[in-house]
Amino acid sequence: TVSLDKVVKRFGTNTVLDGVSLDITKGEVVAIIGPSGSGKSTLLRCINGLEKIDGGSILVNGEEIGRRPTPNGRHPYAELKPQELARQRAHIGMVFQSFNLFPSMTVLENVTLAPRTVLGLSAEKARASALEHLGAVAMADFADRYPRTLSGGQQQRVAIARALAMEPSVMLFDEPTSALDPELVGEVIRVLKDLATRGFTMIVVTHEMGFARDVCDRVIFMEGGEIVESGAARGVFTSPINVRTQQFLQRVL
Ligand code: ATP
Ligand code: MG
Repeated sequence: TVSLDKVVKRFGTNTVLDGVSLDITKGEVVAIIGPSGSGKSTLLRCINGLEKIDGGSILVNGEEIGRRPTPNGRHPYAELKPQELARQRAHIGMVFQSFNLFPSMTVLENVTLAPRTVLGLSAEKARASALEHLGAVAMADFADRYPRTLSGGQQQRVAIARALAMEPSVMLFDEPTSALDPELVGEVIRVLKDLATRGFTMIVVTHEMGFARDVCDRVIFMEGGEIVESGAARGVFTSPINVRTQQFLQRVL
């Protein structure tokens, strides 16, 4: 479903992703762990087309993000127009650390906005779909509330429902529980667990090592813009192969 081939991303002279290759199959749940500044957020932002890459390629469902092949000519690829990129991005769900709900809209309006404007759903269809997705995160009873009247955990669950409402083929989560008070982390983890068992393809940048170990199929350890280690969750935690992974896990576990 998601295929990265030697992806390079630079900010000025700073190489933030240094040849990242990665294949994620449908239904796979992958955790990305690693120290601050290792490129985890940048990797997610590249996958959903928020950042342009400087080398390599990213395919989601066989479509190359941000570029389209040209039949001939000297350049093998042309960049997508903004509206074409927006169409690609519509099917890649992203949930951030800071919930990013629209403050002046109700929960229901937050969830129905993109399906109506981007997918062209009728108000009625968008509402029915939104209530279903809100139900899946146990937030249907809060449909008429405004984000500021909700707890952080509730806002994050709405943000997840909002992403799900676009029927994404892959869900990207960037530290979805990091901004939450400790007692609210569990309710969001439960939702992630539920999505994982429902077969969603998910990439989760997380510091929740318990979640990575128990829920994710695979754990990827990044450092310095590279994938240092990638393997079955249990293996990486119980017997990491790379010494840098070992050192990182010793610090965080
Ligand atoms: P954290 O765990 O702190 O969230 P991270 O692994 O998500 O870290 P990134 O946010 O991807 O790391 O950043 C990787 C590197 O890229 C850092 O050195 C950062 O300073 C740099 N960087 C990220 N975004 C930009 C930007 N827009 N402009 C310039 N440099 C950037
Ligand atoms: Mg980050």
